[in-house]
Amino acid sequence: MTTAPAPTRLWTPSRVLVTRSAAALPHGRQVLERVQAAGVPDVQVLAGDRLPNLRGDGDRAAFMAAKDTLAVVVGAPSKRRLQPIPPSADWRFDLAEGCPAHCQYCYLAGSLTGPPITRVFADLPDVLASLDGYVGRGEVTSGTAERGHEGTTFEASCYTDPLAIEHLTGGLATAITHFGTHDWPGPVQLRATTKFDDVESLLELPHRGRTRLRFSVNAASVARRFEGATSPVPARVAALGRVAEAGYPVGLTIAPIMPVEDWRTEYGELLDSVAAVLPHHADLTVECITHRFTPNSKATLTDWYPRTKLEMDEELRTTKRGKFGAVKHVYPKDVMTELRGWFTDAVERRLPGARFLYWT
Ligand code: SF4
Repeated sequence: MTTAPAPTRLWTPSRVLVTRSAAALPHGRQVLERVQAAGVPDVQVLAGDRLPNLRGDGDRAAFMAAKDTLAVVVGAPSKRRLQPIPPSADWRFDLAEGCPAHCQYCYLAGSLTGPPITRVFADLPDVLASLDGYVGRGEVTSGTAERGHEGTTFEASCYTDPLAIEHLTGGLATAITHFGTHDWPGPVQLRATTKFDDVESLLELPHRGRTRLRFSVNAASVARRFEGATSPVPARVAALGRVAEAGYPVGLTIAPIMPVEDWRTEYGELLDSVAAVLPHHADLTVECITHRFTPNSKATLTDWYPRTKLEMDEELRTTKRGKFGAVKHVYPKDVMTELRGWFTDAVERRLPGARFLYWT
């Protein structure tokens, strides 16, 4: 008999700031009520819409204080114009920006600027109502063939981990319910990825199979060393099994893949643990993302986590240039070929029936 992993302790921020406009909106008020009920010691409704300067003096204490702060704001007007987000989905929209966890490779380090507070958007229902205009306008260039039947895909976890804050916001449940019950002009799918396991509040929602919940997982030693304040991987895998049982399409985001010592054994055990919880009817996709860093993300991460043992050595990597000349440091070709060959084969053998969406 297997024992269910203990649930992860839910995040209680030490400070919550709610702007005046956010407090006037129903979703903003819902978050306010939830953080008060959760016993957050310092909840402030601001007199205006500007957040105070949270940059501090750039020291570690300021970083930790920002990481432990939740702000409830109204999104800037530019947020209403969605951006394409290949290969993950056709379009991205944001429930929030920022995350309270402490992954030492965090991909937000290179993309979000300013102090690392978590901002929740109180105008979420308006954003959801505006998505109709994007249906049928998919622009994904990678993975399209594998999931074309799923319609236009919307990614909600580009800049946050929605499940890390769901107990305080209810935003993911609102989005799932909207996708499941709205009369859409064409087929759609909501996509979200998480390193957390608190799925209880999602199980009974009227999702109608229109939300794919993906769990970001990794080799045990990578998660143990580098993924602070997230749910343990076995708990994420158990959560994947629960939402698959509840009829959700599910996914594995295996990321960031690292060729640690004994990586074949560790990643093999990971895939086997997923196979063990999947119901036979599960609709499972797999996305594989190898570790990479940019000059900007390396600078930010070494500032945030100065004692990190994460390998970010340019000498051990190959440099790739993106569309606009942006530099990325990825594993050399021979390492990539070996990893890719192993994962393609291992997923096929250990998770037959899973759809492999992309490798990067
Ligand atoms: Fe960053 Fe995701 Fe880790 Fe949060 S869970 S710190 S968003 S990598």
